[in-house]
Amino acid sequence: MASAKADVHWTYAGETGPDHWAELEPKSQCTGKAQSPVNIIRTTTVPAVSDAWPLELHYPKSTLLRSVTNDGHSIKYDFEQGDEIAFKGVRFGLVQLHFHEPSEHTLNGVRYPIEMHMVHFSEELSRYTVLAVLGYEGKPSPGYDWLEAYLPLSPGQTKPIEQPFDLASVLPATLTPRFHYEGSLTTPPCSENVNWVVFEQPFMLSEGQVNLLKQNMPTNNYRGVQPLFDRVVSLVVH
Ligand SMILES: [Zn+2]
Repeated sequence: MASAKADVHWTYAGETGPDHWAELEPKSQCTGKAQSPVNIIRTTTVPAVSDAWPLELHYPKSTLLRSVTNDGHSIKYDFEQGDEIAFKGVRFGLVQLHFHEPSEHTLNGVRYPIEMHMVHFSEELSRYTVLAVLGYEGKPSPGYDWLEAYLPLSPGQTKPIEQPFDLASVLPATLTPRFHYEGSLTTPPCSENVNWVVFEQPFMLSEGQVNLLKQNMPTNNYRGVQPLFDRVVSLVVH
């Protein structure tokens, strides 16, 4: 996921790419043992019931989308405060959503054309919950048409939107099956304070919709998969 501020010194390739993030930001956790993204192998996940990992979306039917920014790392949409989810009984407010192309998480070793991160934060826990939606190519999605109407944007550019938006239009139809694990931000400082929720069901959008996002972001704006070490990934089927 992209960090909130538009740092320009780290990139996705070469001397300032992911292999050098820890040198660029010595105080970061980029070499920690609970990093993201990861490759999720379904057969090695631990089955869980929804009650153990309760997730509720409390988004209103129409939320206020404030602006869209090309921060040089991704295309990021900012929301008005008040759109919340509840994860394990704690409320997390939606801050922003953004994209990676291709995906950061892989499923059974498969990298998808796109991944959307919906970033939520709890002041109480000083912790994030990120909903990750993988995208595959098929028919166009009206929700993406709406988001992409504000592109193109050059790096550093922001456009105000201030329009209502139905978040359900860019989410899978059901919240299960989904994977959970504890990890990090996927950009410097790679802070290890993130609950990850990765939906197994990918969201369909068209090749043209993928390409439009791609043209507005750095090439391959994804971090490679990180070792799980002693972490487990849980799978909530229903
Ligand atoms: Zn991200």
